[in-house]
Amino acid sequence: MSERLPRFGLFAVEDDELVVGGVKLSRLAARVGRTPFYAYDRALISRRIAELRAALPETISLHYAVKANPMPAVVTHIAQLVDGLDVASAGELRVALDAGMSAHDISFAGPGKQEAELAAAVAAGILINIESLREVRLLENISQRLGVPARVAVRVNPDFELKSSGMRMGGGPKQFGIDAERVPQALEEIGRRGLSFQGFHIFSGSQNLRAASICESQVKAFDLASRLAQSAPAPVRVINLGGGFGIPYFPGEAPLELKPIGENLAALAQRAEREFDRVELVIELGRYIVGESGIYVCRVVDRKVSRGEVFLVTDGGLHHHLAASGNFGQVIRKNYPVCNGTQVCSGPREVVSVVGPLCTPLDLLGDRVEIGAAQEDSLIVVLQSGAYGLTASPTRFLGHPEPLEVLL
Ligand SMILES: *Cc1c(COP(=O)(O)O)cnc(C)c1O
Repeated sequence: MSERLPRFGLFAVEDDELVVGGVKLSRLAARVGRTPFYAYDRALISRRIAELRAALPETISLHYAVKANPMPAVVTHIAQLVDGLDVASAGELRVALDAGMSAHDISFAGPGKQEAELAAAVAAGILINIESLREVRLLENISQRLGVPARVAVRVNPDFELKSSGMRMGGGPKQFGIDAERVPQALEEIGRRGLSFQGFHIFSGSQNLRAASICESQVKAFDLASRLAQSAPAPVRVINLGGGFGIPYFPGEAPLELKPIGENLAALAQRAEREFDRVELVIELGRYIVGESGIYVCRVVDRKVSRGEVFLVTDGGLHHHLAASGNFGQVIRKNYPVCNGTQVCSGPREVVSVVGPLCTPLDLLGDRVEIGAAQEDSLIVVLQSGAYGLTASPTRFLGHPEPLEVLL
């Protein structure tokens, strides 16, 4: 039935209001009690994961990268639907364990892991993606002290790059992982120091909308793992092929096609059966799982006209949503999709700039966007806000209160 209603992004629109988790926005704002807030729709997250499961072969393990959205309720919801969680700090590790994910299926990647973080990871029994020889040495001591061998995989800085990805994280000189050509030495040390070798982690980028380049990098990652396996001190049990699946943010961007990726992974799964003995292939996704299921809601405080241009000054801004302001990895600033949340499709429309209360021109959520005409107290919504929102923002800048987060 909801399919017949108008939609904005993945959200239904009813009586011209955005609907989140079955609740109209004005009602939701009353329920939350104050603005600004983030709202995440659990049914949309579940649906997204179901779409992934339908497109990908059954034998592929699907992991969620917690840093995309670490809200404990979100992680707990997702933990029930995926095969594993990837964390990037001891803080995220606590969230992942609290969410009920088994330690066996949690992995920890990130440069500069501190000794206490490594110790917590070994004690918990999770998989540690090693990023340097320093970590190998520390893990030997920690393993001996705790009497548990650390479960490790080697994060490889590949000798290729993920083409057309929004943020490159592999290839060339990088702080991530161990350069492919130096991995054999690391493998030798892992064996000699008695760590429990599990496999490889090869992650090369983020926010890619081209299925063909994702497929290409998965094949290259698999080939690289295959090659490096010859120097491994124990059988390879896990190959993490990375993720990088992007979502459309800007006009003209089309959603990623899952079908060719599913077919490519099916072929790799067959190769894995031939070339390895019982290996688990993993992909890890953050943004793709949560990004489109979340919105950021702020309220118009003042409507100003300056030399003929309309500015909606809201109680929200870059201190809560750095990414939408264009200051989190964008080279040329573009607008996230923005709407008047209680006048989404009909009624008079107006071209406005949506700004925040901070004393900087960077505090811009919408640069000359056309939305339903808004007044003081209107609710303005930024879509595609489920990933890299609140926790990727400088919330203390200018000392405003933090926004709330709700999962519906
Ligand atoms: C950030 C990160 C991810 C998630 O990237 P998305 O673009 O959100 O899918 C996955 N793996 C690692 C190692 C990461 O650092």
